Amino acid sequence: QKYVYDFSEGNKDLKDLLGGKGANLAEMTNLGLPVPPGFTITTEACTVYLETGETPGGLDDEVATHLEALEKARGKKLGDPDDPLLVSVRSGAKFSMPGMMETVLNVGLNDSSVEGLARQADNERFAWDSYRRLIQMFGKTVQNIEGEAFEDAIEEIKREKGTQNDLDLDAGDLRKLVDVYKGIVREHTGEDFPQDPREQMTAAINAVFDSWNSDRAVLYRRQERIPADLGTAVNVVAMVFGNMGMDSGTGVAFTRDPGTGEQGVYGDYLQNAQGEDVVAGIRNTVPLQDLEKIDKTSYDRLMDIMATLEGHYRDLCDIEFTIEAGHLWMLQTRVGKRTAAAAFRIASQLVDEGVIDLDEAVQRVTGEQLVHLMFPQFDTSAKVHQLGRGMSASPGAAVGKAVFDSYTAVKWSRSGENVILVRRETNPDDLNGMIAAQGILTSRGGKTSHAAVVARGMGKTCVCGAEELQVNTKRRFLTAPDGTEVHEGDVISIDGSTGRVYLGEVPVVDSPVVEYFEGAAAGEDDLVQAVDRIMKHADEKRRLGVRANADTAEDAERARRFGAEGIGLCRTEHMFLGERRQHVERLILAEDDDQRDQALEALLPLQRWDFLQLLTAMDGLPTTIRLLDPPLHEFLPDITELSVRVALAESRGEKNENDLRLMQAVHRLHEANPMLGLRGVRLGLVVPGLFNLQTRAIAEATAQLVKLGKEPKPEIMIPLVGSVQELEIIRADTEKVLAEVAEETGIDLQILVGTMIELPRAALTADQIAESAEFFSFGTNDLTQTTWGFSRDDVEAAFFSTYLEVGIFGVSPFETIDVDGVGELVRIGTEKGRATRPDLKVGVCGEHGGDPDSVHFFHQVGLDYVSCSPFRVPVARLEAARATV
Ligand code: ADP
Ligand code: MG
Ligand code: MG
Repeated sequence: QKYVYDFSEGNKDLKDLLGGKGANLAEMTNLGLPVPPGFTITTEACTVYLETGETPGGLDDEVATHLEALEKARGKKLGDPDDPLLVSVRSGAKFSMPGMMETVLNVGLNDSSVEGLARQADNERFAWDSYRRLIQMFGKTVQNIEGEAFEDAIEEIKREKGTQNDLDLDAGDLRKLVDVYKGIVREHTGEDFPQDPREQMTAAINAVFDSWNSDRAVLYRRQERIPADLGTAVNVVAMVFGNMGMDSGTGVAFTRDPGTGEQGVYGDYLQNAQGEDVVAGIRNTVPLQDLEKIDKTSYDRLMDIMATLEGHYRDLCDIEFTIEAGHLWMLQTRVGKRTAAAAFRIASQLVDEGVIDLDEAVQRVTGEQLVHLMFPQFDTSAKVHQLGRGMSASPGAAVGKAVFDSYTAVKWSRSGENVILVRRETNPDDLNGMIAAQGILTSRGGKTSHAAVVARGMGKTCVCGAEELQVNTKRRFLTAPDGTEVHEGDVISIDGSTGRVYLGEVPVVDSPVVEYFEGAAAGEDDLVQAVDRIMKHADEKRRLGVRANADTAEDAERARRFGAEGIGLCRTEHMFLGERRQHVERLILAEDDDQRDQALEALLPLQRWDFLQLLTAMDGLPTTIRLLDPPLHEFLPDITELSVRVALAESRGEKNENDLRLMQAVHRLHEANPMLGLRGVRLGLVVPGLFNLQTRAIAEATAQLVKLGKEPKPEIMIPLVGSVQELEIIRADTEKVLAEVAEETGIDLQILVGTMIELPRAALTADQIAESAEFFSFGTNDLTQTTWGFSRDDVEAAFFSTYLEVGIFGVSPFETIDVDGVGELVRIGTEKGRATRPDLKVGVCGEHGGDPDSVHFFHQVGLDYVSCSPFRVPVARLEAARATV
């Protein structure tokens, strides 16, 4: 087995084996770009090492062979006392894990080769600077010495010298620093800094392997859902030196602006420095444009290479480069990360440039990015004071007064204040505060932390893990790195899409993308134009229909503007609240048929009006109306309120008969597990006349609209069916009512009757159920609850964060459909249903209908449509298209 690849042997498609960095270094090498020679040790070697604790047999020999070739190519020997070859030992996994793993530069220096390097370069300062860097990085990475020990020492020397700038340290200072560093190593390890270059290299390689399992890498992988068993590759690269003097330097660059997507020159450059200085922010970098003045030849060459790379990768690339004494070297490239706006703009630009076609443009953007563009955004062109940055846990822009505990959050929000709940991390006790707050900010924990999981579940803006903010919940304030303090009551603004946290109220602007979806013209805005063109193409490509969940005419109209092709779920429960509650109470309390019929009769015109509105808004499009689903006690007064009322009345010596009967009803209807109780079709069977009322209202509204020359297309949907018998009984009733109305109005009513599939039993017996149902709609929220036995309202806050952290699932099954379990039921249900009734229309109406990964799954299992909240409709349209390849 081969464990080591020369750069000339790899290519960009070998990321599994060579990691992203190694594969792209190979690709650049083969493009003839100036990459220092080197080789890559495969991820497979890493996996063996991590499994067995030993590097695979033969690896040492292979490394030795490749090192020899490298030495030959450079005409130097590793660590040679007269003219040493130095190498960097760099981690590089399949997926980039920024800052998670380790790299050691200048491997091969020791007490004698440092002198050789100085002589060869005729530059003592440079040689000793390189040596002190080696000891520092090696000490930290390989020997696990606290980085602070070294940083303190260099600060100390600078203080003695009376300077802030590393560059003011001369060769003598750096030589002294090396001695101090060696002392630190001795003190921490009990041994001298290793002088044998090969030993240095082997130790560095193993340390990179080990860094795969460092705590922060493990955590990062869980959060980003990167599999734990991939391992990292190790790249050994001949060193090139940006710290040789002012004609040397190092920088990073992007082929387009990763923030906006605009074309131009973007990057930072730092003279007389080695790579890690640019990111570390030790000294101020200059904009890349300035390199043109500093070193025009290298600048022109770099521009050339960037154009080559873009042309080759057909996408935005980011780049690391170093200039050694006027000679340009490429050290890294990859297809670069970008913001949502940049993703859309770049995809559209590349179409204009003829680099990609629209099919590919649709693949270059994601529904998640579209979501980000649709949230209101902070207007950062206004003057803002950024306090710090955390992870974007749940998108949105929230402004409010900082509060540091849940109790205050609830109290203040009750009195009409907008608050941001700031915590170090949240736990289930914070739930009420989270509900009350506009947004949530935590200083600890990642995307699977309690705060993140619960906020996403609630659709609430959240920034988590803003570690640079010191949160003191006891004394109710936080401190930003610049020293700014935010006390309870001070206003802050948090951006859940970027993770940024600002002091004060940052103005919020509506998303131009939403305005466009609302019907505004694409206009001049190139972002909106890009969205417009990509969405239009997506609509042409997708097979899956997209409907919306909308309960009111207003929502329905909005959904239509957003591109919904119908309503997949209209919940009718809100139609029984407010003033209508009294009729429901009368219905529940009715003591005979007469009283009950009266209550129903009072509701009929109201319901008819509801459906007239809705069906008018959805004229010409299918509109699925779900008959009443929730348990009846939800329509009765709250038990405590009622008890207080009754007790007060009693104390006044009064007796309200109605309240007393209500009390009895509340007790009678109380359920220990309402989710599994008297609801859905069960209500229809137990409460005579209820479903018939709704059916009649739908039928009469339809007849009325048909008479007006409209084209209403209602579909009646029966919830929570578990057996075909339930459906048969309700269906017989429904058909009777429809026939009556047809007879009364003289209109031939075309109304489908179907059912929700939201119980495992329904999915498993879908062949039987389909005999009585003209369509299915998978209610994946309930189906997830009933398949897992999770009560969503309870489990998310109670333990989902733990479940995610220990890896029971990588994402909440309420967010993304659990393909193996719940998804399997969807598949079975669809297959069985269509076996009975080949033209059965099948959709899904849980929140999963607007979740990108879930949409892909629904496309694959062959559903006819997904239905989601109006706001998510564009996301579903886009992802339905992306699912077609
Ligand atoms: P990361 O993955 O954290 O970016 P890298 O392996 O890319 O780590 O290396 C850290 C820094 O060291 C980068 O700036 C890189 O350009 C620089 N570097 C790595 N190898 C060499 C080399 N052979 N010569 C000069 N600089 C190097
Ligand atoms: Mg890098
Ligand atoms: Mg349901």
